[in-house]
Amino acid sequence: MIVVMKSGSDDATIQHVIDRIGELGLQPHVSRGRFRTIIGAIGEEAESFLPKLKSLPGVDDVLAIMRPYKLAAREFHPEGSVVRVGPVEFGGRACVGIAGPCAVENDTTIFQVGRAVRAAGARMLRGGAFKPRTSPYSFQGMGEDGLKILRAAADELGMPVASEVMDPRQVELAVRYVDMLQIGARNMQNFTLLSEVGKTRKPVLLKRGLAASVKEWLMSAEYVLAQGNKDVVLCERGIKTFEGAMRYTFDVGAVVVAKRETHLPVIIDPSHAAGDRQWVPGLTLAGIAAGADGFIVEVHDCPEDAMCDGPQAVFPAAFAEMMDQCRAVAAAVGREFPEAE
Ligand code: PEP
Ligand code: MN
Repeated sequence: MIVVMKSGSDDATIQHVIDRIGELGLQPHVSRGRFRTIIGAIGEEAESFLPKLKSLPGVDDVLAIMRPYKLAAREFHPEGSVVRVGPVEFGGRACVGIAGPCAVENDTTIFQVGRAVRAAGARMLRGGAFKPRTSPYSFQGMGEDGLKILRAAADELGMPVASEVMDPRQVELAVRYVDMLQIGARNMQNFTLLSEVGKTRKPVLLKRGLAASVKEWLMSAEYVLAQGNKDVVLCERGIKTFEGAMRYTFDVGAVVVAKRETHLPVIIDPSHAAGDRQWVPGLTLAGIAAGADGFIVEVHDCPEDAMCDGPQAVFPAAFAEMMDQCRAVAAAVGREFPEAE
């Protein structure tokens, strides 16, 4: 249920409603909007709760949330949420670019690529230290050594960094080094992992599963939100379909639907959808035009030597060119876009 408070309700009145929601065995989630405070009452509901809450002082209305993803639903939070990662804001006026190599591979590449993508206007760095590989014999990531390199690069470049965690046992370690925890497509329904990152206060980048519906994706976001972590950014990264022209099918419609269904910021990952660098700029522009709040793109200065996902990594020069095109599309849809240095 959503309890809509009368505009101008004071703190004591709001607190009384929060206490009563707790007494009914529901979890109160307060959302203070510009004009009104809305309190989500989440949990096992009984019919008798609605008139009880409606009669409390300061309550304007009590509405049922029709969506199964209660905290993620736009019904619960009509204004778009802004997720802050250090100085970077997702879901604000500006479209945010995250870029970097697929994986941290050594202690030089991430610095070189980071410098180049920052110069082109990227605001955040990416790099995996724990890699979900199809083959157990493929490079699995540098682990904690990789996280240390990521932290050093992020500090030197002055850019926050996002990196993937694959297992609840990696979360405690990763929060010491990274600014944003990435949940990969293969783990979108690893509910234990989702709850674990939900217990942290680090922003979470939640990729859509390879074969997950938008509804399932939002239910996964709900797992994180239900633990009290409000900072979730969704990421469309392509799904499996019969179409084989690209590695996955970039579902631009999912961006449009997700932006309508949830208040959470939505970004796109054209690199993993494409699987081939030639398609990356086109997909990025399509995502921005559709309303994405940003993108995460793999960039490498020598893709043929990359230990992971070389074929889809764009060269720094192509990235800079793509960023200029993004600037034009962002302006056309009323978004700001960071200038190149
Ligand atoms: C990645 O970002 O490197 C990655 C493995 O992405 P996904 O989980 O979307 O495949
Ligand atoms: Mn990758």
